[in-house]
Amino acid sequence: MVRGEDIPDYDAIVIGAGLTGIYQTFLLDQEGMKVLGIEAGKDVGGTWFWNRYPGCRLDTESYAYGYLASSGIIPDWNWSENFAGQPELLRYANAAADAMDVRRLYKFQTRVTAAHYQQRENVWKVTRDDNEVVTCRYLISATGPLSASRMPDIKGIGSFKGESFHSSRWSTRQDGSQDSIDFTGSGVGREADPDRSSFWRKARADGNQLLRNLQQGLRSSRRYREEPIQEVTPTGIRTSERDYDLDVVIYATGFDAVTGSLDRIDIRGKDNTKLKDVWADGPTTYLGLQARGFPNFFTLVGPHNGSAFCNIGVCGALQVEWVTRMLAYLRQKACRIRNPRKKPRTSGQTRFTRTLRARY
Ligand SMILES: Cc1cc2nc3c(=O)[nH]c(=O)nc-3n(C[C@H](O)[C@H](O)[C@H](O)COP(=O)(O)OP(=O)(O)OC[C@H]3O[C@@H](n4cnc5c(N)ncnc54)[C@H](O)[C@@H]3O)c2cc1C
Repeated sequence: MVRGEDIPDYDAIVIGAGLTGIYQTFLLDQEGMKVLGIEAGKDVGGTWFWNRYPGCRLDTESYAYGYLASSGIIPDWNWSENFAGQPELLRYANAAADAMDVRRLYKFQTRVTAAHYQQRENVWKVTRDDNEVVTCRYLISATGPLSASRMPDIKGIGSFKGESFHSSRWSTRQDGSQDSIDFTGSGVGREADPDRSSFWRKARADGNQLLRNLQQGLRSSRRYREEPIQEVTPTGIRTSERDYDLDVVIYATGFDAVTGSLDRIDIRGKDNTKLKDVWADGPTTYLGLQARGFPNFFTLVGPHNGSAFCNIGVCGALQVEWVTRMLAYLRQKACRIRNPRKKPRTSGQTRFTRTLRARY
């Protein structure tokens, strides 16, 4: 409940218990703030909790990705592979969560559905799918750049009588040995390739030629067909060539990347303005961490903050540390939100967004 005055239930709410979210929750707790983490999944791990398909692994090197090991949270951690697989990454997330003792700060199996800024009280009112409403001064999203899975818009998709799911919701019943399985989209086939890691290292050096090699390799090494899907039927899939009878259909159709997980929350700032509307023609941010009109809201590994161009295990952690220092400073100086006396001719956000758009 909003108490009608300036005292929120929590100093900060962190949405997400991936590697970024658990580190943020930990550091704010260490700063003596009252923090609540909210996570849709059953436990910590984020990307590495959800994506469990065979062959799922890093394509950046483990030791460079594993900031929580190299920065001293779990100093004894030893990677068993140069490009760690999902089971090891999930163990890594769990070991870090144990060391930081953050699970006690989380509400799991709970999704944030809305977050509305209350101008008068200067608090965020956060609505959860268990119908609870909680308030906080600082709202921090760590909802992941690749966590909003995207299903394709194919005729008849709901009619299939067998088992079907997105690759990021891999069914643990599937070991792929018995049933006939169809991968819709080619991403999972690519990610399940045992040579994927070395492939991607080389691919960075010479993208186009290697992409052609990959496509060639897939064609020869797998039952991969270039046949446009016309519809999903109760018994399988109809392509331009024929009908396939299938037990399982797996949608490897990717994610609504970066802004997708934020779009799925009804986020409203000052004057009830929707973030989704403000970003309708592309995100506008300051340093990729804040958006004008959404005070005290920080978007970790969100748009514009380099997540698409860097090793997220490290970039996410550096953003977490920056936000922690910022919030500690605001508290220490007892800073309050004030409307500027003079409206700047060009805001920092406009300059920042303009510069980014000109470069990328
Ligand atoms: C298959 C795959 C391979 C990848 N490989 C690499 C790699 O090699 N190198 C690299 O740098 N990055 C890689 N990434 C990107 C990866 O997402 C990041 O490295 C990193 O794990 C992101 O961590 P995060 O904590 O920011 O987000 P995530 O791990 O995505 O965690 C976000 C969490 O927020 C939760 N959440 C979202 N919305 C809500 C809501 N409304 N309410 C409650 N909870 C919510 C989700 O359930 C999720 O658990 C890969 C991603 C995938 C999918």
